[in-house]
Amino acid sequence: MAELLVVEDDERIRTALIRGLRERGHVVTSVGTALAGLQRAVEDRPDLVVLDLGLPDLDGTELLRMLRAVSRVPVIVATARDEDAGVVAALDAGADDYVSKPFRMEQLEARIRAVLRRASSADADATLTVGPLTVDVPGRRVTHGGRPVDLSPKEFDLLAYLAARAGTVVSKRELMREVWQLPYGGPDKTVDVHLSWLRRKLGESATAPQLLQTVRGVGVRLAEPG
Ligand code: CA
Repeated sequence: MAELLVVEDDERIRTALIRGLRERGHVVTSVGTALAGLQRAVEDRPDLVVLDLGLPDLDGTELLRMLRAVSRVPVIVATARDEDAGVVAALDAGADDYVSKPFRMEQLEARIRAVLRRASSADADATLTVGPLTVDVPGRRVTHGGRPVDLSPKEFDLLAYLAARAGTVVSKRELMREVWQLPYGGPDKTVDVHLSWLRRKLGESATAPQLLQTVRGVGVRLAEPG
């Protein structure tokens, strides 16, 4: 069960969405315009937003950019078949996932569960382990081979974000958006500089990477050395 915000201007779809999501035990509020959606998302702090891309006042992707400047609430974009090009733009703007219309409620529910699961493991109340590395997220402590590693707050946030996604490649753009909360990007070298500090503190170098692996042209991955 989650608190959901539905932003959808089509009365018929909105009614069906609200009914379907409530039947599945969610608490649902809904609005029909982008600006009302932005306001509700900020004031009500829902667990997740289901966002229609084609809205009367603003494009859904525009709303997403504005929302990402102030909030990390998970967003699933709902897109009509002829808006498929918009999906890429929406994902770039910070959407967590999408469904194509017409979709079945079971499909949306499965996406909602997956996105919420990912979101909660991202700010996990757990200790993450990657090879010799342990990241105690709530305690903000890191050990490497059992020895404590002294990190700055930003270095810790960066490492915890990567550890929560261990084994997958994360783009620098995503790091900029999610760790630095700069949805429009920031100084070019910010991520690189922090990664190199992190490497040094983990006793690695870019030429001899162990846990922190750069994937050229894509991003960076935290993983057990193959
Ligand atoms: Ca629409």
